[in-house]
Amino acid sequence: MHRVMIHPATYENCRQAVERAFELFPSDITGRKVVIKPNVLRTSKANEHIVTNPAVLRAVIDVVETQGPAEIVVGDNPGLFNYGDNENSFEQTGLMEAAKGYYKNFGDTSQHLDFNPGYMKRIGVSTEIMEADVLISLPKFKTHGLTVMTGAIKNSYGILPGGQKARLHKLAGTPERFHELVAEVFRLRVPDMFIMDAVVGMEGNGPASPDLREIGLLLAADNGVAMDAVVARMMGLEPARLRFLQKAKELGLGDFDEGAIEIVGKMEVLPDFKVPPLGGEAIAANAQIQEMMQAKSQVRPTADRELCTGCQACVDQCPVEALSMKEEVPVVEEETCIACFCCQEICPEKAIRLN
Ligand code: SF4
Ligand code: SF4
Repeated sequence: MHRVMIHPATYENCRQAVERAFELFPSDITGRKVVIKPNVLRTSKANEHIVTNPAVLRAVIDVVETQGPAEIVVGDNPGLFNYGDNENSFEQTGLMEAAKGYYKNFGDTSQHLDFNPGYMKRIGVSTEIMEADVLISLPKFKTHGLTVMTGAIKNSYGILPGGQKARLHKLAGTPERFHELVAEVFRLRVPDMFIMDAVVGMEGNGPASPDLREIGLLLAADNGVAMDAVVARMMGLEPARLRFLQKAKELGLGDFDEGAIEIVGKMEVLPDFKVPPLGGEAIAANAQIQEMMQAKSQVRPTADRELCTGCQACVDQCPVEALSMKEEVPVVEEETCIACFCCQEICPEKAIRLN
C-alpha cells in the first residue's frame, strides 16, 4: 500500500508540513549524501509559480540539516537546452538564495547509461543525481500541454543535462511515445522521497501558464506513481488515462489504483480545474513550440580550429563515439550525436561551439 500525505501549508509555515513528511517517510540521511532536486523549468520570478517555490526548498534543506547528512547538494537542469543558463535560472527564481550555498550546476558532469534503443542507445544523467544516497524530488503542482500534468514523475526529466531533453522530444515523435519516455527516464534513478509544492499550483496551458490556483497544500510520498495519481484525481483526471502513469505502472514503479493508495490527510477534487486536452494536442498543435524543439534538437558541437589543440579528449569522452579526428580537429557524426554536450564540458581549451 502506498501512502500520500496531503497537508495544509502556506509559504510562510510550510516547514511544519515538511517536518510531518519526514515523520511519515523517514529516510536514513545521517552521514549520507542527500541530493535535492526542485523543478526549475526555466528563468522566471518566484511569483510566476513556474518553478518550485524557494520557501519549500529552504524548509526541506532546514529539516535535512537537522538530520546530520554528510553532504547536501541542490540542483537541476533547467529548460530543454540548458547550457550556460543553469545558475541564472536559480538566481532569478530565488532558488539560489534558498539553496543556502548547496547549489551545484547539474549540467557540469554526467554519467552515461544504456537506455532504450527505441529512443537513444546511451543517455547522460547528471553525476550528482547518480551519486545521491538519498534523492529528494520537489515537484510543482502544474499542468503540462504534452503530459497533461507535471508532478513527481515528470520532474525527473530534469536529470538529463545538455540538449538531450530537446533531442528526446524530437525522437519520441508522438505524445504517446513521449509519455512512455518520461516514465523510462524516471526509472533511471527513482527518487527516494517526493515533496510537492501545491501551495500555489498552475492550471490551464502549463507548464508556464499564467493561470495560477491557490491550493494551500504540500503533498509528500515515497512513491511517485502514487503521488501523481493523487494529483491527477485532484485535477479531476482519471490516472488510468494518463499514458505516463500506465507506463510507470507497467514498469513496476508503483500503482495508481485508488485501493492501492492510503491518503494521509484530506483529498478534495479542485472544482472546475482547467487541464490541457488529454494526449498532448495542445503542444502538438502549437507550431511555434514544434519549430523551437526542432531547432534545439538539431544543435551539434563544432570545434574551433583556432583554439583546438587536437588533444582528442572530446573524442575519448563522447559516450556514443560520434566524434572522430579529421584534419586535426574533431568532427561530429550528426546522426549518432545524442546532444549531451559532454565534449563541450571536457574540452580544456573551450574550443567546442554549439551551433
Ligand atoms: S559529440 Fe559531443 S554532444 Fe554529441 S554525443 Fe558526443 S559528447 Fe555528446
Ligand atoms: S577536447 Fe577540445 S582541444 Fe581537445 S580535440 Fe576536442 S575540441 Fe580539440
